[in-house]
Formats: sequence, structure tokens, C-alpha cells
Amino acid sequence: MELTEDKIKSLLDDLLNLCRKNLPTMNEELITKGIKLSLEAHKNHFRASGEPYFLHPYEVTMIVAKEIPLDDISVISALLHDVVEDTEINLDFIEREFNKEIADIVDGVTKIGGVLRGQNITQAENYRKLLLSMINDVRVILVKFADRLHNMRTLGFVSPHKQRRIATETLEIYAPFAHRFGLAKVKWELEDLAFKYLNQEAYNEIAKKLKETRRDREKYISAVTEPIIKRLDEHDLVYEIGGRPKHFYSIYKKMIKQNRPLEDIYDLSAIRIILENNDPNECYYVLGIINQLFKPIPDRFKDFISIPKKNNYQSIHNTVIGPEGKLVEIQIRTRQMHEIAEKGVAAHWKYKENISSSATDLEDWVNWIRDIFESVSKDEASNEILASFKLNLYQDEIYIFTPKGDLKILPIDSTPVDFAFAIHSKVGSHCIGAKVNGKIVPLSTPLHSGDQVEILTSNNQHPNKSWLQFVQTHKAKSNIRKFIQKEEDRIVKTGKEIWERKLKKYKLAFTKDDLNKLVIKLKFENQSKFFVAVAEDKIDLEDILNPTEIKESEVPELEFDNFAKFARESVGDVIVAGEHRGFEYSYAKCCNPIPGDPIVGYITIGEGIKIHRKNCKNLLTLSADNENRLVPVEWPREKDSYFLAGISIKGEDRPGILKDLSNSIASFQNTNIKSVNISTTDSVFNGQVTVYVQDVLSLNRLMERLKKNKGIYSVERFDAHN
Ligand code: MN
Repeated sequence: MELTEDKIKSLLDDLLNLCRKNLPTMNEELITKGIKLSLEAHKNHFRASGEPYFLHPYEVTMIVAKEIPLDDISVISALLHDVVEDTEINLDFIEREFNKEIADIVDGVTKIGGVLRGQNITQAENYRKLLLSMINDVRVILVKFADRLHNMRTLGFVSPHKQRRIATETLEIYAPFAHRFGLAKVKWELEDLAFKYLNQEAYNEIAKKLKETRRDREKYISAVTEPIIKRLDEHDLVYEIGGRPKHFYSIYKKMIKQNRPLEDIYDLSAIRIILENNDPNECYYVLGIINQLFKPIPDRFKDFISIPKKNNYQSIHNTVIGPEGKLVEIQIRTRQMHEIAEKGVAAHWKYKENISSSATDLEDWVNWIRDIFESVSKDEASNEILASFKLNLYQDEIYIFTPKGDLKILPIDSTPVDFAFAIHSKVGSHCIGAKVNGKIVPLSTPLHSGDQVEILTSNNQHPNKSWLQFVQTHKAKSNIRKFIQKEEDRIVKTGKEIWERKLKKYKLAFTKDDLNKLVIKLKFENQSKFFVAVAEDKIDLEDILNPTEIKESEVPELEFDNFAKFARESVGDVIVAGEHRGFEYSYAKCCNPIPGDPIVGYITIGEGIKIHRKNCKNLLTLSADNENRLVPVEWPREKDSYFLAGISIKGEDRPGILKDLSNSIASFQNTNIKSVNISTTDSVFNGQVTVYVQDVLSLNRLMERLKKNKGIYSVERFDAHN
């Protein structure tokens, strides 16, 4: 489309006419200036459809002026909503040329677009900012939703990939937000458009079937409305009545939920009566008239006039048995209620002064948001916030009363714990039980609309992890998590204290690194989990800090123990060098060193120095990170002294073997047999010989000689397991 002078003139006229009709007051000059700036700024841009880009902000503005009209400020902001993002013009310029309000709204629209971009909502902080900007100036929302609506209406021109992305985002984020802001009309259209792009097949099928059955439905609607009209006219009521076809997406959801084909969905259309006099009492009067004409179904009756929804929605929903025994839903509301239902916040503004203070209104919704975001703890996983926030956006509401008759609106399936937290976080934290309609029930019991709930509390009660499995509200979840976190912090602190006391006791220093290594070695997820285990006495710190004792399986047989003990006593005290002189010492059981073995000391906790063989595997592990705990030690040196060595011999149990072995030893220079132990099992000879030898070299030579005997499988020192 060419933007000729004439065309521009007619666009401007259309907009001004619409504004004159729908806005209480307006600055025509400023709106005209807005159009001119938008035209100029976007003059070189084109949309995917090939049209001049200006037509987009213009159409967005038309939506604002026509469908959610509020004031001229929001109209001008809509005209300029893309100039800062897409052109050279900046906010300062807009503030100078127009005013700060408009600049702020344009800024808000630009920013929330980014935050609302699907998966990019990863930061709770962004979410908070988004909601605060929405709350600060509701016109940001109006412009943003009008923008999205126009983009959805013209989505056919972009690539299929982009269509899916934008449609998904619309369905998941924009539509529920529109619902919460009471923009019912916008919400329906966004949902239906998104549905069309996301599930073309189902959309087309529903469209086709609705078209086929349109005549029948219209006929049926007339059959219901005719007698109603007759009666209403008799009572001189001013009203509008009509059959409203259900929206495609809501029909589709019903089909999925009830697992039925379209033909079996009974309430494809609802009848709506709008009373022009704005007197709520008339609604009940009309209700009485209808219930005289048709039998109502009490279960399906909903009075959202006495108890408005959180988004201010007010109406009576009454389902009756119509002609042919079919169920028909009839909605009754005043014109004002209807406008609020359709235009939400925009209408709210308009009727602000008339709305009775008792009505649940925008303030409540704002408070609801504040509640959620104030209770969000800093480190709460942001995707969880989003998930539960989205859940709370979508969920249907139930109405629960306190014993005094105060009302709390909660998401469907809420439990007494949710209700308790809705009253006060203290009540929630200490609730031990609940009476629902006078009967005591478990805390996990789902509540139903109209239940009167009394919460029983005890100061000894605290939030329980298991509650998280059934609570529905974000407030309850967040409070419970916070408590569990605090509780865990406390346990971690206790564990840390125990740990530090132990370190002090054993005079050990652990760096952060040391601790991390230990935590990894013990297979804990993190330090906190380790400290919790310490506090709960699930691990033995003595064992961990003094692990020389743990390798039971490697302790050699008792035989050698006695031998080793004897051998050591026979040579006298080990020499401990340097600053550790005079420390208590003992021999490590894992390697049981005997005189002649190369040895080293290891400083333990509480047991002085442990003496290991230098090649002890256990010691190598221990000292890997604690080399500073190694102390040089030596066997006492005595000239000409012999030392005891133990030799284990395995071989074939044949006659004369003992004699052969004895000969080998006796004939070896400077060697004396001290003892010999022999056992045989299944013709295997098993001998343990202790001998006095002069040094390790002599011992090794002796062992070589023993091996040469016939039928010998192995000759090893007792400690060969090292
Ligand atoms: Mn835009």
C-alpha cells in the first residue's frame, strides 16, 4: 500500500474519530504529532508483508483506541512504541517533543518485550522488573498487548519457524497475562490465533464443524432466548442478549480434557445477557426469571458478582436444562461488568470511581503479584519461579472461607497448608491440622470452593519437606523452601562446629582445598552435605581423620604380628629425629615393619607417630596430601647385631622338603633359625620360618637359595603383601 498524502490524511482522521468517540478527553494536536513522528521515523522500513512499517504502529494504535481505550497518552505511546528500538530516535527526544509519561511507556514496552521473550525469562530479577513496570503504569501493558495482537493477526507473513516461536510465546506468556489483567477479549483472540498456527489441523477441523452446525446452533439459541426475551420485556428491562460461540481454543481444550469429539461437547455456545442499567440487583432479578423458565443445575451455578475473580471479573454463570434436555450456560452481568470483563484494566480505569471498595479489584491483583515476588528468595531456582508463577496464572480459582467468614481466593487443588499460608506465613509455618467444615482432615486434603477452613496450629510445628508435594500456591512453596533452607543452614553450622572441634583436638589444619578433596573423596555432593552428615552423625570423623586404622583387610595374620613384635623388641627403640623426638610411637598394622625395613613416621591424631614401611601403600595414600605429616625415623643401629626376619615358603608337600629347607638355611652364612611353623593342606606345604640375619642383603640371598629347592612355589617375606 502506498502512503499517499490522501491516504495519510484518511488514516489520521480514522484514528482521531475513534479517539473522539472512545476517550474521555484528548489532545488532538499531540496525537497528530505522534502520527507524524512515527511516519517519519519508520519511512524507510517495511514489514514482512511488504507494507510500509508505519502501518504496524498505526494498527496497534487503532487496537488501543478501539478495543482497550484508556487515554490519549496510551494512544500516542502506541504510535511511538517501536521508534526507539528500530530507529535513530531516542527516549530523550520523545520526552522533549512529547512528555516524560510517553517516553516512560515507550521505554517500558521496549523492555518488557525482551523480558517476555519466551525462554529468555531466566532471571527472577527480570520478572520482577517486568511486573513492577506493568504495575507502575498499566498503559505499558495495554500497548504491549495491542502490539502482540497485531503481530499475531499478521503472523501469516513470517517464516513457519518464526510463526511457531511467536505463537508458542503468545500462548504460554501473553495469553495468561492478558487473562490476569482482565483483557478477556485480547486473551481469546491471542489464544485462537496462536492455536491456529500451532495446530492448524485441529483448528481447521473445529472451524469446519462449527460452520456446518451453525444453523442448528443458532436455531437452538433462539429457542432458548425467545421465551427469555419475552419475559424480560414484560419487566421493562434494558438489556442486550445474544448467543456467544465459544472460542476455538477453549473448545479444543474441552475436547482434550473430556476426550470427546466436537459433536459431544454440549456447551459450544453460551447465552449472555448484559443489563444496561448497571444495577447488580437486576442480575439476580433476571436470574430468578430464567430459573422459572428453565430448571437450573445448582452444581454449575457461579456467582462472580458477590465474589469477583482476582482479575475483577464479575458475572453470574448459570447452567440450565434447555429445550431437548440440552444444557445451556447463561451469563448475566451489567454493562459495566461486561466492559471490565472485556477490557480489564482499561475499563477498570474508566470505572474506578464507581467500583465499590469491597469489590476485589486491581489492587488485589497487584498485591497478589507483590506477594509472589516478595516471597521469592534470592537463590530460588528461577525456572521454578516461572513454572509456579505460570501455574498460578493459569489455574482456576477456588473460594475458601475462614471461620469468621473472611474469603481467600486460592488456585484449584489448594490444601489447608496453602490456605494457612494465605492467612499468614506464621499460621502456615505452625499448622498441624485443619478442620474443613468442622471435620478434621489431613493437611494434604484438596479444598473445594465454599469450604470453611479452620487451621490448627502449634508452636512446636514447623514446615515439612513433604508439604512441597501437595501445596499449590507459590507463597506456600516459597515459605516452606525458605524454612528448609534455614534448617539446613543450621545443621550445616552444627556440623561445621563439630568438625572444627575435632580438628582442634587433633591439632590438624585443613585448608579449603584439603576439605574439598576430602568431600570429593567421601563422595558428598558438596561441603554442606558433608557437614550435614557430620552433624547427623552419619560419618565417623575419627575414622576419616585417622584412617590408618581402617584397612582391616590388609592386617597380616597374627603369626607375623607376634614375630614382628618380637623382632622389634629385640632391637630396641626406634630413633625419631628432629623436633618430634620423644613423641609416642607405634607400628602401623597395615605394613607391620620389622627391623631392617626402610621406615618412615607419620603423625596421627591422638596416637602419636605411626611407623610404616616406606613403601607401604596405605602410607602413600595417606601422605599424598599430607607430606608435612611425615617424620624421618630409623631403626636403632647396633654393630654386629642380627635382626629377625620372617619368611613364608609355599611348595609341594613332598617327603623330605622340611629337611631340604633346613639345610639351605643352616648352611647359609651367619644365619640361625629361630622358629619354624609348618602346615599342609591338600598337599600344599606352607611354612613360616623366622630367622636371624645380619642384614637385608643376606636375607635376600637366603631367600634366593630357598627358592632353588625342588617343588617350591614361592618364597616371600611375611610382609610380601606390600
Ligand atoms: Mn511493535
